[in-house]
Parts: sequence; C-alpha cells; structure tokens
Amino acid sequence: MPDLEAGLEIEPCRRNGWTPPPSARQAITWLVLVVLGVIYFTSLVPALHNSWQLPAYISTGVLMLAHVIVHVITISIDPSDPRVLRKKKPKIKFDEMKHQHVIENQHCNICQVNVKAHSNHCRVCNKCVWRFDYHCHFVNNCIGGRNYRWYMATLGTAFVALCLISGLAVTEFTFFFTDQTNRHILQPYRDLNTLQTYKDANFKILYQSVPYEAWLTVLAFTFTLGTSVAVAVLGLICVHIYLTSHKSTIFKSLENPSKAYVPVKVESYMSGATLNSGSFTIELVTGLPWVSTFHTTRSAKNSAKNSAKNNNNECELKMVDETCSSSAQSDNSSMCSLSQGVVSLAPSTTSL
Ligand SMILES: [Zn+2]
Ligand SMILES: [Zn+2]
Repeated sequence: MPDLEAGLEIEPCRRNGWTPPPSARQAITWLVLVVLGVIYFTSLVPALHNSWQLPAYISTGVLMLAHVIVHVITISIDPSDPRVLRKKKPKIKFDEMKHQHVIENQHCNICQVNVKAHSNHCRVCNKCVWRFDYHCHFVNNCIGGRNYRWYMATLGTAFVALCLISGLAVTEFTFFFTDQTNRHILQPYRDLNTLQTYKDANFKILYQSVPYEAWLTVLAFTFTLGTSVAVAVLGLICVHIYLTSHKSTIFKSLENPSKAYVPVKVESYMSGATLNSGSFTIELVTGLPWVSTFHTTRSAKNSAKNSAKNNNNECELKMVDETCSSSAQSDNSSMCSLSQGVVSLAPSTTSL
C-alpha cells in the first residue's frame, strides 16, 4: 500500500538494479555466467595440454573478473536525473485529472522536480533517468547517461569472454578427433603411450573423470549456449554503436522509427502502436531490451481501451505498458494487471 503524506499518495521508486523486485532475466543472466564459467574452468581448461592451461586460466579468468566488475557497477549505479538525485523528493502518484503529461515543460509531475533535457520517466523504476536509453531487465536497471559506458563495457567483456569459451569448446571438440597422435592440445592424450586406447583417456567434468561421450556432450552444450548468447550480445552492441554514432538512443528509435537515427530531441512524440512494434522488432533481433517509460498518447490509451473492450475483461487501464498492451491485444483471455503507474490523456501527441 502506498504511503500517504500531506494528502498525496507516495509511490515507491527503485534505486538501482539491486532494488526489488528482482528480474527473472537478471537471474538467468547470472545463471548463464556461472554455468559457463564453471564448465570452462573445471571441464574445458583441465582437458588442455599442460603448456596451454596457465594462459587459458589467466586470460579468461582476468576477462571474466573484469566483466563481473563492470557488470556489478552497471547494476549498482543509480542513473537518476541529477536533480532527482539532489532533491530526493518522494514520488507521488500521477494525477491525470490535474496533468496531461508526466513531464510538462521539463517538470516531472511524479518526481516533483524540474528535470534536465533528455530525461525520461521510467515506469519500472518510477523515476526520471537522465539521457534515458531503455530499461534493461538483464541488469534490472535503467540504462542512461550515468551508466551507459559501464553498460557498453559489460557487453564488450561479455562478448569477448563468450567467444573465448565457445572457441575453446569447438577447438577441443575438433582436436578430440585429430590430436590423438600429435597430443599437442589435449591433456588426456598426453600419456597415450600407456593407454590401451583413446577411450581410456582421462576427460573430466567438474574435475571428475567421465566417459568421453559425456565430455563431448558438455562441449557441444557449451558451444551452443555460448555462441547463442554471443550472437545476441553482438546484435545489441551493433545496435548501440549504430545509434550512438547517429546520436540517438533505443528509446528515441522506438518512439518514432522514421526519425530513429536523428539527433536526440528534447520533445518526444510517440504512438503506442509504433512503440510496440519497434520494441518487438528490437527484441527479436537482440533478444534483450524492453522500453519501459510512460506512454502518454491518446492513441496508446485508446488502443489499450479498445483491447480491454474486445477482451471483455476488467482491465483498468491507468497505465500503458507495452508488455501488457501487446499481450492484451493478442490474447483475448488475458487479464492486465497494471499497477505500476498511470497514463495521461493527450489530444493527439504528447511529450513524456
Ligand atoms: Zn520523473
Ligand atoms: Zn528503469
């Protein structure tokens, strides 16, 4: 239940990526990181010839440590608008009877401060974020001007580490069949002279000796998982490099695809339909971002209302969320649960 202060409903806001509620995609991200790290250090590297093991441990170890550090920094930074940070005013419930838009004339009616140009109000975090790019559920935090470089470093280190892990997996898989004579790459073949057959070679998972079929299966799994994630991360890196080189952001590109790659404007205009389709496209390509700010257009609200009528459900559409609105439009039996914010009415186009 929201607190009541001076007759105003006080809404909670999130500080950074560690603030509840947790994100399932954030948990999956760390799970993938741990699984690939454990397999790499306990199954892949021990299979290497002695002379290769130390370089493999050091190079990928340092890289993964660097990734964890920049990843944690990205999650921990509060990307709020500097004026929101400085004034620390409570976030109040948006009153659509009093205001048309969440941000009017650079004043946020929820954060209760005059925000900087290019700031937008994130509905997930319920605060204004300076140079808002998008709310990334994989770090459970907004990406904005304050943590954008750390975020790009997170993507970069993740991509290189994934390439190293996947590369080693496919290399060992190949040399399993070709290194039995030379014995330059794989440790289990080092003492092949004392073995009856290559099937007696000592391959390990979690430092435990296993049949070579199980070890090969782990290699195939590691390569498939690592490559899939690496492709997704590379896609997102390319999107960001392209947008940055055109002085734009994911948020700006989704709010109006026809003006996606022009320099960022102070005023932002959008339609709910274009935002939803754009968001869906970006997610298809990268599998990563969702834009999560307030939609403040009549078209967005109308489409949601029509959806609610058609669905004949009890949706009380006070806020338009692209996740919910898209699912509501596609699933007649869906019940929207919109509880994190409100949407304002606007004649045709509005600013956030
Ligand atoms: Zn705000
Ligand atoms: Zn956010």
